[in-house]
Formats: sequence, C-alpha cells, structure tokens
Amino acid sequence: TQKDITTTLLVIGGGPGGYVAAIRAGQLGIPTVLVEGAQPGGTCLNIGCIPSKALIHAAQEFERALEQAGDSPLGIRVQQPQIDIAKTVRWKDGIVSRLTGGVGGLLRKAGVRVLKGWAHIEDGKTVRVQADGGGEPQRVRCEHLLLATGSEPVALPSMPFGGAIWSSTDALSPEALPRSLVVVGAGYIGLELGIAYRKLGVEVTVVEAAQRVLPSYDEELTQPVLESLKKSGVVLHLGCSVLGWDAAEGVHVRNAQADEFALPAERVLVAVGRRPRTSGFGLESLQLDMAGRHVAIDAHCRTSMRNVWAIGDLTGEPMLAHRAMAQGTVVAEQIAGQNRRFEPSVIPAVCFTDPEVVVVGKTPAEARAAGLDCIDAAFPLAANGRAMTLQATGGFVRVVARRDNHLILGWQAVGRGVAELSAAFGQSIEMGARLEDVAHTIHAHPTLGEAAQEAALRALGQALHI
Ligand code: FAD
Repeated sequence: TQKDITTTLLVIGGGPGGYVAAIRAGQLGIPTVLVEGAQPGGTCLNIGCIPSKALIHAAQEFERALEQAGDSPLGIRVQQPQIDIAKTVRWKDGIVSRLTGGVGGLLRKAGVRVLKGWAHIEDGKTVRVQADGGGEPQRVRCEHLLLATGSEPVALPSMPFGGAIWSSTDALSPEALPRSLVVVGAGYIGLELGIAYRKLGVEVTVVEAAQRVLPSYDEELTQPVLESLKKSGVVLHLGCSVLGWDAAEGVHVRNAQADEFALPAERVLVAVGRRPRTSGFGLESLQLDMAGRHVAIDAHCRTSMRNVWAIGDLTGEPMLAHRAMAQGTVVAEQIAGQNRRFEPSVIPAVCFTDPEVVVVGKTPAEARAAGLDCIDAAFPLAANGRAMTLQATGGFVRVVARRDNHLILGWQAVGRGVAELSAAFGQSIEMGARLEDVAHTIHAHPTLGEAAQEAALRALGQALHI
C-alpha cells in the first residue's frame, strides 16, 4: 500500500479555479497537492473557452476568405476557399496542448505536487485518490481542502448525449462537418458554436424556449446579434421546446401555439446550460450548506465547514473562467495569512458571438432597478473610423453613470472586436472612474476604444463625432 500524503492545501480539480489557486499557494510557500482526474486546465482550456475561441476564429477566417472570393470591395482576389476540418481540429488541439502543457510547467515551477486521478472525499481533511485504470488508491490528508470541481453540461432527458446528440465538447472536435445542425439553447455557448458552424457552411437551426436569443442579456444588446444570425442564414425557432430526435426526421419541436413539427438535423448540439459538479465524489458526506444546486460560499470563498473552501463553477453564477481564477488567488492568499475577500465591483461577461457582446457592471435597467438615478449614452460603431476600416460598423458602446456625480456604473458593447474593450471597462469601474475621467483620457486614434470615449462625452452632452 502507498504511504499517505500529508499536505497543507489539497485542491480538487485543475481547472482555472483550482490550478490558479495551487500555483498561487505554491508561490506563497504553502505545501500544496492538486488532484485532477482529466487534464490540467479543466473545462476552460480543454473543452471550453480556448478550443471554442479557436474554432470560432477558424470559422471567421473561412467566412472572410469566402467573402473575398466573391466580388471583394477590398480588391483582394482569391480562389474558392475550402475547409479541411480535420486539420482545423488538429490546429485547435495544438493550442490546447500548448496551454495545458504550460499549466503543468507552472505548477511544477511553483512546487505543487500534482496527482493524476479522481478524488473521493472521506471527510473534510481526508481524500482518497484513484488513478484511472485501477491500482491502489492514494490517501491525502490536508489542513485545508479546496473544492474546484467545476461544472458539466446539462442533458435533456429526451435526448441524452451520445451519437448524433452532441454536448459542447463533441461540437469542439467534429470528425466531419454535418450537413445540418440543430442547436438547442440560444445562450452564449449554443450561439457561439452555432454561428461558427454556420460560417463553416453547415445549415444551422437554433431552437430556444425563451422568446429571444441570449435571453439573460439586455435586449438592445442582443438585437445586432439577432440581425446577424438572420443575415447569415441561421434559422431561428424561438419560444419552442424540443420533444426528441430521430435519424429519419430530425428534432421534434413544439411551438408556443402547441403546433408540432420536425427540423432536419444530422447532428444536435444540446447547449441548455451547465450544472455544478457536486456528486459522485463524496461531497454529499460533508453536508455543506448549498444554495440551490451549487455550494454556498461566503465573501472569503469559505463553505459552511471552516477548513473547506470552494471556488469556480461549483459555486454558481457567473460560471466564468476569470471569476474562478480570481477566487483561486483569493483563497490561496488567505491560507497564506493574508486578509483577502472576493468582492469585485464587476465581473465582465463576453459572448464571442458575431458581433461580440460585452457586459461590465450595470445596464441602465439594472441601475434604475437598484434605485439609482442614472444617465446612459451610446455611441454607434458606424461613426467610428476604425470600425469602418475593419468593415465592422454594426453595434455600439454604451456607458451608464450616476447622474449626480457621474460615477461610472456600467458599460455595454456590441460589435466585432469589442471583447478587447472589456479590460478598460472593468478598470474604469474598479478604479471609481467618472465620465470625465474617460472623456478626458486621450484615446489612440483610430481605435474602437474611441467609441467608449465618445459614449462618455455624449453622456456629458459633449459628443464631438455624432
Ligand atoms: P472546470 O474548468 O470545470 O475544472 C474542473 C476540473 O475538476 C475538471 O478538470 C475536472 O476533471 C476536475 N474534477 C472534477 N471532479 C474531480 C474529482 N473528483 N477528482 C479530480 N478531478 C476532478 N468561460 C469564460 O470565462 N470565457 C469563455 O469564453 C468561456 N467559454 C466557454 C465555452 C464552452 C464551450 C464551455 C463549456 C465553457 C466556457 N466557459 C467560458 C466557462 C469556463 O470554462 C468555466 O467557467 C471554467 O472552466 C470554470 O472553472 P473551474 O475551475 O470552476 O472548473
């Protein structure tokens, strides 16, 4: 039998939450063990953020090549482009392995001991680790236990994953491009991937139970996405529920009028949400306080058990990699004795749809609902020189600020390339910027960032270019 390992911090799960916590703890000299059953990097690096953005980029490049192959207004002449999807997937896999390999190196450099295997919790200080393929389990005893087991896609009972029914993971590694794809769920994951497949030439149909796409986002922001979906030939069935699938007819759907019909679908991508991974590894035995489906935590990321911490998707919305990473740092630094809390003013959210959607802080409706007297102003990208040179004039940047002292409460943007503005948006709010701070900062010309400056100027009644 293997000797038990004793450590100060034991992290279960090597996603962006867990691996960042482990690296930071290692840097701070805390003896740390990280247990990961699959690959380091978790959902984000292996089957989430990174591979999806790689596929989206490839699809965008293909679409642009097709555009240029027509009557290109840019004067570019190219032959009819083709896509070799197997090569695209290999390229995407190469990026994933460079990044996951990099995470492995960083963990080693920080002195973290990585155990490859599945953790099973025995009690709040003891975990059993079982490697794939059997063998004697390894027992690890710890002072602090950090739960970072992430989340998994929700399946539909009428269409369990497998075969023609894809989860987002399957959609990221297609063996071939299907002729037709029905995407169930118009949240950001379904739309990002659905749009990419459409750009790759697949007939894409989106079925959504709500009456609009990206239902959790401000409707004004989603309007340009809706228009672009229609323009690109994505077929939308809103307010519809799916009943099942069969190979002959495709996906059976019922609309709001209770009419039933079938949509042809060689493949179906079910993207109806993700649920925290809370079962199958002994978590129940700790009897932690839960908040609905996720583990409840306080502002320190502590669970209801004093030495047990939890971060990332396991702790609920927003299920985003950058939130998990920030929480991971906060936990490691507290274990090292620092007085830290996880209390960001804002957590940016970006949809990498076409056009991209960025939400940082409060929308006008949210500010008003919070009882704040606010002003908001938008600047259209159609009036931004850089957007014109990029052929990306759809969309706008909007700022929301308090009317009395002009403190910025939120930013929203929709347009090609606006994801990169999210950092400046977040900084302005975390630093307590006022409209004047942004309006009087010299922004490089010509850049999309000028649209943010103009939105701030407009909110002050001083817009120059509109
Ligand atoms: P995870 O990344 O899920 O990692 C958890 C890890 O724990 C996994 O590796 C798992 O194998 C391991 N694990 C679980 N149980 C055990 C056990 N018992 N023993 C050992 N190991 C275990 N977020 C963004 O911010 N931006 C994006 O653009 C974005 N795009 C996405 C696209 C897709 C298609 C998907 C699916 C997700 C996307 N996300 C995005 C969400 C993002 O991936 C997650 O928010 C993030 O990965 C959560 O990190 P985490 O550390 O909490 O958990």
